[in-house]
Amino acid sequence: MSTFPELPPAPSGEAFPLLPGEAAGIEERLRRSEERYRSLVAATAQIVWVANAQGLVEEDSPSWRAYTGQSFEEILGLGWLEAVHPDDRPGTLHVWSQALASGGFYEIEYRIRRYDGVYRTFWVRGVPVREADGSIREWVGTCTDITDRKRLEDELVQTAYEATLRANQLEATFEAMTDAVFIFDCDGQILGVNAAARRFLNRVAPLSGKEMTVDDYLAQLDLRDATGQPLPREQWPSQRLLRGEVLADAPLSDLLLRLPSGCERRISVSGSPVRDDSGSVIGAVAIGRDVTERYLLERRTHEALEALLALAEALVEIPRDLADPPPQQAGSSSVKADGSCLQQRHEITHRLARLICQVLNCHQVAILHLAPESELLQLLAYAGDEGAGERWLHWLSGSCSTEPQLSLCFSPEAVAALRADRLLGQSGAEGSVVPIEVGECYAAVIAPMLIDQQLIGLIRIQQAEHEQHEYSAEEMAIIRAVARLAALVTEHERLLHERAEARANELALRESNRRMDEFLSIASHELRTPLTTIKGNVQLARRHLLRLPLTAEQREKLAIVQELLERTDRQTGLLTRLVRDLLESSRAQVDRLVMQRRPENLLSIVRQTVSDLQSTATQRRIRLLVAGQELRQENEPAPIMVLADAESIGLVVTNYLTNAIKYSPRESPIDVSIEREECQARVSVRDQGPGLPPAEQRRIWERFYRVPGIQAQGSASPGLGLGLHICKTIVERHQGSVGVSSQPGAGSTFWFTLPLLTDAGEGAG
Ligand code: ADP
Repeated sequence: MSTFPELPPAPSGEAFPLLPGEAAGIEERLRRSEERYRSLVAATAQIVWVANAQGLVEEDSPSWRAYTGQSFEEILGLGWLEAVHPDDRPGTLHVWSQALASGGFYEIEYRIRRYDGVYRTFWVRGVPVREADGSIREWVGTCTDITDRKRLEDELVQTAYEATLRANQLEATFEAMTDAVFIFDCDGQILGVNAAARRFLNRVAPLSGKEMTVDDYLAQLDLRDATGQPLPREQWPSQRLLRGEVLADAPLSDLLLRLPSGCERRISVSGSPVRDDSGSVIGAVAIGRDVTERYLLERRTHEALEALLALAEALVEIPRDLADPPPQQAGSSSVKADGSCLQQRHEITHRLARLICQVLNCHQVAILHLAPESELLQLLAYAGDEGAGERWLHWLSGSCSTEPQLSLCFSPEAVAALRADRLLGQSGAEGSVVPIEVGECYAAVIAPMLIDQQLIGLIRIQQAEHEQHEYSAEEMAIIRAVARLAALVTEHERLLHERAEARANELALRESNRRMDEFLSIASHELRTPLTTIKGNVQLARRHLLRLPLTAEQREKLAIVQELLERTDRQTGLLTRLVRDLLESSRAQVDRLVMQRRPENLLSIVRQTVSDLQSTATQRRIRLLVAGQELRQENEPAPIMVLADAESIGLVVTNYLTNAIKYSPRESPIDVSIEREECQARVSVRDQGPGLPPAEQRRIWERFYRVPGIQAQGSASPGLGLGLHICKTIVERHQGSVGVSSQPGAGSTFWFTLPLLTDAGEGAG
């Protein structure tokens, strides 16, 4: 095998006998030709290869080896395929075998692995070299590196593709723009417009057959500036642009124009001149944006905000004297104060209604209050059309044929919508009321007044007298905001009113308490003296009777008198106790209860009181428990020291115990317990009496309160309902507290606590 492939043989044909001189000449030509061929192969950057007629490599290809790094042995046969990219091998073999079979040209593109492992793409061509008889002797071919060319081609294709795409995108954007775009030359001739501009031009001159310039169109539009002044021709946007001016999208470049249809629009114009290489203006691009709706919305929002501000100011301006009525006025003449408060409330809600009318620029506003429990609707105020509020409320009442109650006036769906802060729409004065969606038309809307998700009222807003109005999302949001603000104003003002009322009541109560105390104190003093005299006289009479020297018969006859005197004595005792209670209660109330608090053993006070009462109520079983253990005579537990007025605390225990005896069955035991808690002592008196429902448990501490239906046992005297009130006053003045735990039918446990005396000698509480 020669190092370089041999030249292809001469074209097939007949053999010519050669003359001796001729043969030497031919040999010389052949040698030169081979040399030229070698130089050519060496000079070319391509890979040159030779394969036999069967397509197998037998001869060396230094250029292939140099490029791939394969050895001569490795390229033999089909070994060269190993340097071809694995993915390209099947295709290569297929095309190669087809060429071998057909004897035609072999052309294919595949990737060859360079000696350093990098694959590059080659364009491979092979031609058959034929014998004189036409049979294939061998194949000669070249591999040309086309990697860079291919990349360049790919890039070119990609760039062309992107450029087209971009142009299409720009075209689509241009057409899809909602702003109208006009491109015109320096004579004002229109060179291009987008769809929005086409629509605009059609509205200006629909049937114009002739070519019109930009200025021809503008001349028909009665152009004015943003303030409404006519716009001189030199100020037309086309003129300014062609003079080289750049127009920015600002309110200053807004134009007002009137279309031939009479419709007025506000257009914001921006644009820029187009210049040639030398900088001369050769045309311009102008963009027009219809800002009519935006401008109107901005103006309305501005007005609404101004009025909202006024609404908020109204909230701040609520008269102070409504919040704080002067004490003498509230105390001495609460009716008058109440009347003027109501008057002020009335004025404020009416002012609110008027402001809302102004904020929403509407025909009529009615504010309805929703009573918390009955859910009855009541007209608070209205503005605009006089009487429309009443008419509407009347319609509401009519629709539920009774009093206007929320759930009867509206459908459940409408009520749910209101509670979810949604608006309702009403198509006519008497049309049905349904939740409203953005963009729907209604004659009136009803907005909920919500505070903390609580519905406290409704506002009905009617935009125009007979027209339906289309509600945009912004308008609906403003209505909801106004309703919320109105809810705040009315609630704030209602609370102020309530506070003023409460203060007036409190002052009146204090005053009547003072008078009652005065009366009680006088009355009990007045009664005490005659009662003492009566009691003394009765006792004197009884003693006299006993001492009289009477016969048994006379004594028997006088027994009835003795009996009467005894009963009078008991009754007088009872009356004396009642009078004492009266006096104590008035004293406690006016803070004149004299108490001398000193360190005392609470255990001793309670023990003494229990023992006193046990001696008078001998049939009752009264147990004394200390820390849960029954206390016997011989036991002497550790003292429980408190700072107390022993007599007053004794009175508290007596009252609790007397009640327990009085209100529980004779055969049932009564437990008195004393317990030491963390920093206080607790005394409880437990009985098995009728017990008390929770509402009564709160009221029994009030003065003169007696639970209806609870009867004293046997001959026990009914009280005045003062005992527990006195107990509470005494204990609270000892920094302690009182209470009862009870259930109807299961007895009661009345208790009080006192702060324990600490080592420092102070009450722990
Ligand atoms: P009264 O002198 O009427 O007993 P109190 O102020 O001591 O006045 O008690 C107020 C009311 O509380 C009583 O009229 C009675 O209805 C109820 N009450 C007091 N103690 C008891 C009790 N242990 N069991 C049931 N009801 C009681």
